[in-house]
Amino acid sequence: MRHSVSSGYSVTLLPGDGIGPEITDATLLVLDATGITFAWDRQVAGATASGIERRGGALPDPVIESIRMTKCALKGPLETPLGGGYRSVNVALRQEFGLYANLRPFRSIIPFRSYDNIDIVMVRENTQGLYAGVEHFVQVGEDPHAVAESTAITTREGCGRICRYAFQYALHHGRRKVTLVHKANILKMVSGLFLEEGRLVAKEYDGRIECDERIIDNAAMQLVMRPESFDVIVTTNMFGDILSDQIAGLLGGLGLAPSANIGASAAIFEAVHGTAPDIAGQGKANPSALILSAAMMLEHLGELDAGTRVRDAVAGTIRDDGIRTGDLGGKATTMEFAKAVAERLS
Ligand code: NAD
Repeated sequence: MRHSVSSGYSVTLLPGDGIGPEITDATLLVLDATGITFAWDRQVAGATASGIERRGGALPDPVIESIRMTKCALKGPLETPLGGGYRSVNVALRQEFGLYANLRPFRSIIPFRSYDNIDIVMVRENTQGLYAGVEHFVQVGEDPHAVAESTAITTREGCGRICRYAFQYALHHGRRKVTLVHKANILKMVSGLFLEEGRLVAKEYDGRIECDERIIDNAAMQLVMRPESFDVIVTTNMFGDILSDQIAGLLGGLGLAPSANIGASAAIFEAVHGTAPDIAGQGKANPSALILSAAMMLEHLGELDAGTRVRDAVAGTIRDDGIRTGDLGGKATTMEFAKAVAERLS
């Protein structure tokens, strides 16, 4: 927890690409209405930065320096080119600052299809596994891309750390159970090590937090059929990434899914979703995911009451006032929605 100074909390602001700038403006409007003040250090990264001639390409040095100083960032989504092009800035930031825990709370605000009470917390390992970025092509004959190889890196320390984070989270937040999601039947080493460590950590919490296990494919099906059987999920990087979008789908889409990337020396708050190029620049994006991420940031900064108020205002605007963006079947623009949330706050 850091302390507020007279000019407010120093936080790095990365509006990002695609819908990023729109949802960031909306989020700033809501944060303003909380009465908490911020000294924003606005920075540029991703496609927006790589388009301009700046040191460091898509991840310029000033971004790193700023987060090193503020230890806290609010970030819009950043574009990552498919296949070739520059390396994911999202992954690079998580590795640069050792943001090993990706915390993603999923809570229903309004019923969606047959799902009306989703309450699942995803704790995803954020720096290892197949996303460690150890990959290369092997040339065979004339074809430089004849074979592709990616190596998943999992360490005992990394597995223990993320599992302990999940159990600690469960304990502090009054949750009942942690489910270890793995593929140790096939990936006997990279996933087996995760399961081995997870079971050891579970023993430390025996009698306080329940633990169960699911193989990833079964977990994916059970999430659709019996989502109420999950409470806190802890899993490795890629499984957590994929299951997150699946759980967001049970809430009604990515527009309601916030997240925090937490490490020992910094934290970055961002929506689960990406740049949504199909709706960028049209004022259609749902800013709730970034606003709810900002609520997580407020709590991280010790502003617990403001965090709760923001979350309640988002839920009240959607559920009680019926003011919704297009993804939730409404007609409100990004800014109209944000203004309604801000009005509830003030
Ligand atoms: P996406 O999350 O951007 O979009 C998926 C679908 O969800 C689209 O139909 C989009 O319109 C919709 N959607 C997403 N956010 C929404 C919102 N706030 N309101 C309403 N609808 C919303 O996924 P994608 O299209 O696969 O990826 C686009 C780009 O985003 C890629 O370059 C990808 O690498 C990047 N990305 C970045 C992050 C990040 O910065 N953390 C995360 C995921 C994807």
